[in-house]
Amino acid sequence: SGGHTTPRRVLLKLSGEAFGGGQVGIDVEVVQRVAKEIVEAVRTGVQVAIVVGGGNFFRGAELSQAGIERSRGDYMGMLGTVMNCLALQDFLEQEGQATRVQTAITMGQVAEPYIPLKAIRHLEKGRVVIFGAGAGLPYFSTDTVSIQRALEIHCSEVLMGKNGVDGVYTSDPRKDSSASMFTRLSYQRALVDNLAVMDASALSMARDNSMPIRVFGLEGEGNVTGALQGKELGTLVMN
Ligand code: UDP
Repeated sequence: SGGHTTPRRVLLKLSGEAFGGGQVGIDVEVVQRVAKEIVEAVRTGVQVAIVVGGGNFFRGAELSQAGIERSRGDYMGMLGTVMNCLALQDFLEQEGQATRVQTAITMGQVAEPYIPLKAIRHLEKGRVVIFGAGAGLPYFSTDTVSIQRALEIHCSEVLMGKNGVDGVYTSDPRKDSSASMFTRLSYQRALVDNLAVMDASALSMARDNSMPIRVFGLEGEGNVTGALQGKELGTLVMN
């Protein structure tokens, strides 16, 4: 075999929308397919950490519109992400993939607490690490947490898997037939033009720390495996 090379380590962000297939709850077919694709990439030596969203259950901002205090709604949102983590963990384990869930809100019966050095150790051993409960902090989003986790555990990029869209466009492609997709985009342009990539706090944290973000579509067959392996899908956001 050849010389020593540093393994590719990436952070995959899966939105809650992906888990729900656009509905409340879990779309097992979607989660199972994504799990299979993740395992395929791990078997080729890619180290995969995952941040899971929770919008298929609750979003704090929406609950607050309905009359629930914002912070409490945010905690409900964070707890929702954990259910997605467990669903993904189950399908990964069914494929024979070792996994660990680490949550930012301690719940010892279902997951480890978030311990970054331990997460790195798991990745080095070929385990998939799934981060749940966001940052454990109201007013944050799982997009922002994705950037933070990627920075702390030294991932080379964040892969934002999207539902219903395959990259960042000049305008909404569902409303504007002349919209075109960026293959490259600067953080600044994404922020200033308010392009629908992710929230501004996530983008500015990525910009301030030069963390590249690839926005890609989850739906195409093989896209998840490809993105994890470094295939140039969708839009790359960087300086
Ligand atoms: N949330 C939070 N702090 C975090 C991460 C998430 O308060 O660090 C809450 C927030 O209410 C959010 C919900 O959890 O709306 C679900 O997460 P998110 O909306 O980021 O999930 P996604 O849009 O990716 O499905």
